Amino acid sequence: MSYKESFHTHTKYCDGKNTPEEMVLSAISKGFTALGFSGHSNFDFDCGWCMSKEGTADYIKEVNSLKEKYAGKINIYLGTEHDVLSSIDKAVYDYTLGAVHYLSFDGEHFDVDASARCQLDTANRFFGGSMQSYAEAYFEQAGSILERTDADIIAHFDLVTKFNEHGELFDTGERRYISACTDALDRLLPYGRPFEINTGAIARGKRETPYPSLEIARYIHSKGGFFILTSDCHNADMLDCFFDDALEMYGGFNIVSFEEIIKNNQTQ
Ligand SMILES: [Zn+2]
Ligand SMILES: [Zn+2]
Repeated sequence: MSYKESFHTHTKYCDGKNTPEEMVLSAISKGFTALGFSGHSNFDFDCGWCMSKEGTADYIKEVNSLKEKYAGKINIYLGTEHDVLSSIDKAVYDYTLGAVHYLSFDGEHFDVDASARCQLDTANRFFGGSMQSYAEAYFEQAGSILERTDADIIAHFDLVTKFNEHGELFDTGERRYISACTDALDRLLPYGRPFEINTGAIARGKRETPYPSLEIARYIHSKGGFFILTSDCHNADMLDCFFDDALEMYGGFNIVSFEEIIKNNQTQ
């Protein structure tokens, strides 16, 4: 089996390296049947890596025009990666991914996936240095993704582990960690929406395995949850990064085509 689509794609409109059209051409060259764009939604505060308000309007126009230009060659979908802290006009998008990228305290926002240093600084400032408590605060937010965004896809559920692949910052086997994870999952699973298996951090050399961990995937699977495979792509060459390996690693789980879900929703 091979997987020939991805619905998590960034471009120059946010923090990606390529134009939308370069992404489309790469997708076609890799034999993809569908490509979904998911530019980072705009925030009221200065973010540095999300789309600007004006840029969002241009992004929408450009992706919609590419749909027609490449019709018959590849199916293109317009989406956005909807952070729980931003508000969007959902009606203009074909689909959305729900995500948490910040923890907020006292009106200030602290990046979850910028660096280990940033995580540690936040933990020092608000949790007396406890990274277990920091991870709990993250999962409290992650559990709220669908209540707050009603997104079609749950993005990188355990993003908080970005710098913790080998237990550098906290112990993912600890009871507290596991119960924070499963509490969040129990809030998300009843919606029946797919969780990402997300290879983006591998493409950027930050990790060797996708989100979520196999343990988390096992729990999702045991509760009847399912997955789609995405590359959270910021660089056109990496559109299918680690896809074959991920299919093997997560082979026991239910990995579906997101395009099929969109098509089914459209015919209902
Ligand atoms: Zn993200
Ligand atoms: Zn992303």
